[in-house]
Amino acid sequence: MASYPELEDRVVLVTGAGRGIGRGIALAFAEHGARVLVNDLTDEHARETVEAVRATGAVADAVPADVADRAAVRAMVSAAVERHGEIDALVNNAGINVVSPFLELSDDVWERTQRIHHWGLFYCAQEVAPRMVARGDGSIVVISSPAAVETYEGQTHYASAKAGLQMLAFGLAWELGGSGVRTNLVSPGWIETELNREYLWSEPDLRERVVRQIPLGRTGSPEDVARAVVWLCTNEAAYVNGAVLRVDGGLLAGRLKA
Ligand code: NAD
Repeated sequence: MASYPELEDRVVLVTGAGRGIGRGIALAFAEHGARVLVNDLTDEHARETVEAVRATGAVADAVPADVADRAAVRAMVSAAVERHGEIDALVNNAGINVVSPFLELSDDVWERTQRIHHWGLFYCAQEVAPRMVARGDGSIVVISSPAAVETYEGQTHYASAKAGLQMLAFGLAWELGGSGVRTNLVSPGWIETELNREYLWSEPDLRERVVRQIPLGRTGSPEDVARAVVWLCTNEAAYVNGAVLRVDGGLLAGRLKA
């Protein structure tokens, strides 16, 4: 395993870290001695990840909040700063993915999807970044998706939220880079989590067809994504800003013959 001593004791806030990719990211930072602030909707959602991080000997704290709610995000960040001093890295990971054909899409699913993915970064970055800018140091990593650049069946709302999120992240890279705050995106391909489990197993051979589209011949794990996220927050990535790091086994590198 790579060793990043610069992450020791750094405070990292990971949104939506109660399970899935976010939990993998929390555990990966813990391996390098970072202090992990585990955000999810409630303490109960965050509990298992907090326990898993603590079991490694690292420091973890639950910081529950709905990232789609400005007041909740503000309260979360101010409580976190009070307890831990500074937030050195923000990983914007929380997300939902409700499959719905566009013509049947409800206002509620549209709004919730936009608010959690797109507005969630707007709120979290506006609350966290001012202190990073004042210190001239900080790293923001945004979890994107192949859907930021191409859409899929029943994913119009998700894809447009991820596309907006990507441009918002580019805006942060552009505006905050001069203050020493780097913003980058990680775009996971097919990672088997609760988010897509139902979909992947909804048809007998769907999962096989998905895997056939991935040059590396397998779906990814939260750990695959987490290693890239951690690297972006190290000194190794000191000149990386506004990048999209695809962790998708080569999914977007080509197409199967029609
Ligand atoms: P997941 O459903 O396993 O985990 C998402 C977590 O976010 C859950 O713990 C959930 O409670 C939390 N969450 C949801 N809404 C929240 C809110 N408003 N405030 C705080 N927390 C909230 O999903 P995952 O697969 O781990 O996905 C994580 C991120 O990765 C998402 O942004 C998703 O769009 C993205 N992504 C996932 C895949 C994949 O294949 N799994 C692929 C590309 C991108």
